[in-house]
This record gives sequence, structure tokens and C-alpha cells, in this order.
Amino acid sequence: MHRMRVLALAAVVAGSAFIPATATAPLTSAAPPPCSEEPRENPISEFTSYDELLVELDRIERVSAGRVSVEKVGESNRGRDMLLARVGSGPKVVLITAEIHGNEKTGPDAVLDLLDYLGTSDSAHARKIREQLTVVAMPKINPDAGALDRRGNDMTWEEAQARFPQLATAQVPWNYYTEPRQGDDYSQRPGFDVNRDYNPNLDYQPQPQDFPGASDKPGWFISPETQTVRDVYKSLRDEFGAVDTYIDLHHQGACYTVPGTDRFVTMSLSGKFVADPATPAGAAYAEFADTYRPEYSKQLNVAAYNALQAAANQNPDFGNITLYPQDTNLPGTGLGSFQLNGSGAVLFEVRGQTQTLGEQHRGMLTRTVYIGLDGILSSIASGQVDNLDPADYDRIPPTDRGQQTKSTITEIEN
Ligand SMILES: [Zn+2]
Repeated sequence: MHRMRVLALAAVVAGSAFIPATATAPLTSAAPPPCSEEPRENPISEFTSYDELLVELDRIERVSAGRVSVEKVGESNRGRDMLLARVGSGPKVVLITAEIHGNEKTGPDAVLDLLDYLGTSDSAHARKIREQLTVVAMPKINPDAGALDRRGNDMTWEEAQARFPQLATAQVPWNYYTEPRQGDDYSQRPGFDVNRDYNPNLDYQPQPQDFPGASDKPGWFISPETQTVRDVYKSLRDEFGAVDTYIDLHHQGACYTVPGTDRFVTMSLSGKFVADPATPAGAAYAEFADTYRPEYSKQLNVAAYNALQAAANQNPDFGNITLYPQDTNLPGTGLGSFQLNGSGAVLFEVRGQTQTLGEQHRGMLTRTVYIGLDGILSSIASGQVDNLDPADYDRIPPTDRGQQTKSTITEIEN
């Protein structure tokens, strides 16, 4: 995959000292490696492409001898298959989605590793997860954006309006990109940030008065991708009574650090996406006050955090885990919408998107996601998750975003 990024003047950061890229400043041995948030052209061929995903899911299904089943559950706006893999026969269902932002690519690779393991391993560990859980994974829920290696898809507003004629007079949605961002030129090929198209009301139908919307407002299910994930969620809820856990896999800025250190954050976690519907700030979603389970989301995050801290013995990078900012209100995300509907919810934010890191650190970062996922599945399967202290979540270090590149980047999106 090669396409030109819109390059801007770069600045690099080493520790707390900002050094222009044109300078050749010597780095002391104590300083972290230079880090830049400026978009640039990076190789990404090591990541699993859409075509490779089809082949790999087919392979895993075959070698699993019936343990893993793969099915097509929908089509993207451009007609790519949306695939779902299912493994295990337990009473609790864990839904995992990845790559809703097409420039965030460790999620699909980690999910494939997990499916491979759960589908082929005869270990007591794998057996226990298969017996206690039903793991449902959708490794690429925005294959159009994934193929473009960019955050947004390339569905036009006109295409959306053609599908929903009642939107003929609606204002252009706030999350419709028509200008350059993250190094990608949307002016020639506009598209949506699909990750704001969910709505806590899973039966919502688009209404013109609900546009243009905003980041702290719900979305409209106008994209085939969110409709498909929503339909999967609802059908799992019908089958199991509840979707116990929902995990969504993302990437964030490349240059965040663990507070008080020079160590780059390998991954941030979060279990909070909306204002508590039982409080005045969350009053718009008061109807979900009885289903919202913030403490369970915290316990799930602690399970991931503990597993990664334990793995830091193998590689200290696994220990560089922080808490994602907690002052968010994102009801238009799948995490926000499904959490309000009663699922424990976990966000993984891996270091660096493709426009900053490309496939650098791919193996370590993918392994980080895998260890976090395994920690959650193990904890639910054993029942230990219920014994974890939600207060441990609040003790996860916050993310130090202060050292990120100060340059032409005005907004770093996750
Ligand atoms: Zn993202």
C-alpha cells in the first residue's frame, strides 16, 4: 500500500527538549529516541491487508477443526465483506472489534493471533476460555478505510443521503472529512469518521434535525459498517441475553509518555466513555442508568492492566501502560453506545498510527494487544474479574501528553 501523505515540516521531541528535525542534536544515552507526530510515508506491508485477512480467516477456520466459524455479516460501503469469527461455546459473550480507524492496524493482527490460538490449542487455558466464553471477533470493521490506510472511509455524504432520503435537507455531519488531516487529503476523496456513527438507541433511525451532530452527541447509523456491528450486537444480545463484554481496538499518538518517566506509552486503557447516566452530566441517557455498569468496565481494564504488568518481566515495554483521558463523553462511539446498553467496555489505544510509526514495533505492539485481550478473557473465564478491585483502575497512571510534538499538529486523534 503506497500513497502519498501530505507532509509538513517536522519537529522531533527527545525527552522534554524540542529539537527541530533539521538540527543534529546529539542525544545522551538517557534520552528516549526521537519521536514525531508529523504524518509521513511509512511502510505498512507487514500488517494484514484485507485480502490477506480473507485468506487467514479461511485458514484458521480450516485448521481449527470446527472450533472457529467464520461468516460474512455485512458489506462495507464499497462492497468489501465484513467478516465475523466465532470461537467457544460458553454462556458469556465477548465481542471484539478492530480497525474502525483504517490507520490503526495492530488490532486485526492481534485478533488473528488470538483466533489461531483459541482455535488450535489443546491447552487447559484455551479449553477453559472456549468452555466459559463465546468469543466473537470482527477484525476489520472498516475495511474501506483500512484499504486507504487512513482514519476515515470514503463514503460521501451524497451516498448517505441517497440511502436515507429523509436526510435530503439535513446539515452536513460534523464528522464528514473534506480537508486534509493526519496527512491524508480528503478533499479529493471525502469520507466519514465512522467511529462517531453509533447511537445508544440501537433502533435509532436517522432524522434530519439530529444533524450536523457533534463529538459529544450520538451518531445516526448512516454507515453500513456501524449498522453491521450494531446488528451483530443485537443478535448476540438476543442469543445470550446480554453482551457481557465489548472491546474495541485503536491506536493513539506516538509520543505520549508514562508520567515522570521518559518511557513512551505502549498502550492506554479506558473503561469510561460517557458521563454516568445516573448523574446530571449524563442526564441525556438517564434511561440507561439501570443497565450501565461502570465498575465492571473498570474490573475488565484492571484484568488487562495486570496481565501486561506481569508480562513486563519478558519485555519492559509491556509495562508502559497508562489510563486514557477520563473526561470524555462519546455516545457516538461503539464503546459508549454498547456500554450504556449494559456491556462491560474496554478501549485499547496502542502507540502510534501508521502515519507516524508505520509498521515499526509491530510485533511488540501486537503482542501487547494480545496479552491484554488474553488477560481479559482469562479473568472472565475464571471468574476472577469479579474479585478485582475497581479502585485499581483509578490507580493506573494517567497519560502524559505534554511531551508530544509541538508543531503544525493541532489535534491528535485516537
Ligand atoms: Zn482510533
